[in-house]
Amino acid sequence: HSEDIASPKRTKDLLQKHGLTLKKSLGQNFLIDHNILGKIIGAAELDSTKGALEIGPGIGALTQQLAKAAGHVVAVEIDQRLLPLLEETLGGYPHATVIHGDVLKVDLKQLFAEHFQGVSRVSVVANLPYYVTTPIIMKLLEEKLPLENIVVMIQKEVAERMAAKPGGKDYGSLSIAVQYYCEPEIVTIVPHTVFVPQPNVDSAVIRLKVREKPRVEVEDEAFFFEVVQASFTQRRKTIYNNLAARFFTKETKEQLEPILREAGIEPSRRGETLSIEEYAVLSRRLSQALK
Ligand code: SAM
Repeated sequence: HSEDIASPKRTKDLLQKHGLTLKKSLGQNFLIDHNILGKIIGAAELDSTKGALEIGPGIGALTQQLAKAAGHVVAVEIDQRLLPLLEETLGGYPHATVIHGDVLKVDLKQLFAEHFQGVSRVSVVANLPYYVTTPIIMKLLEEKLPLENIVVMIQKEVAERMAAKPGGKDYGSLSIAVQYYCEPEIVTIVPHTVFVPQPNVDSAVIRLKVREKPRVEVEDEAFFFEVVQASFTQRRKTIYNNLAARFFTKETKEQLEPILREAGIEPSRRGETLSIEEYAVLSRRLSQALK
């Protein structure tokens, strides 16, 4: 792998040559380990008919491997200083395009229309900047982009929350939001030694296989997520207390217990024990009652 960007020496040389110091504020922890890159690429199941959207190419370590595996690669990078360097490292890959911008502000529907017309499926593959992991994932999911997979390196704790099943401390509104749209699977846990500079936390590669249809059918998605949010407002309180505080008054509160019972949910349960299916039934009943 002599030409690989992802090595400690090549990374150091490139940064030095371009006079760059890394910005902690932009989550710039670059991957220097070829094996981990291989695991990320493997999990994305790319081939030459497919497209890959990368968020934050950095100096191009992952972008280069994506360019080898996919038919078309688009990488969105916020840090303008990296663009000349990326032009140099990715010059040999004409089907890899770098776009300067903040992924949270980029019009992704338009980006897809412009760049991914000819490809069969698109995956998002990235080593995400940790300070904006959740907003980025939620943007990708809520915009309902035609994605096959989201394969991302993120903070280990966040990956565990995304993949958590009901009943434990990791299960919460993030688990439900992610699992509403996707089937999550933690691919591998990654030690902090594979980055320069090394972050203070361990990381994980997670694969979110995007579902054809959400896991449950709900009439009003916004209300469904509002009920979920409300149920976790105070984790130690019962579902009854959390929902009463959000949706009812002293006078109307007596309606809540029968609603919960009709949904098959014991009022003394806590939000963290309810499945997505139970939240779907509950939000339907609540919305009918509150109309
Ligand atoms: N892909 C490279 C790698 O694996 O070595 C770099 C990963 S580094 C963890 C995150 C990258 O995301 C940095 O290059 C950073 O400048 C970029 N970035 C941070 N915030 C961003 C945003 N809002 N939009 C696009 N890129 C962003």
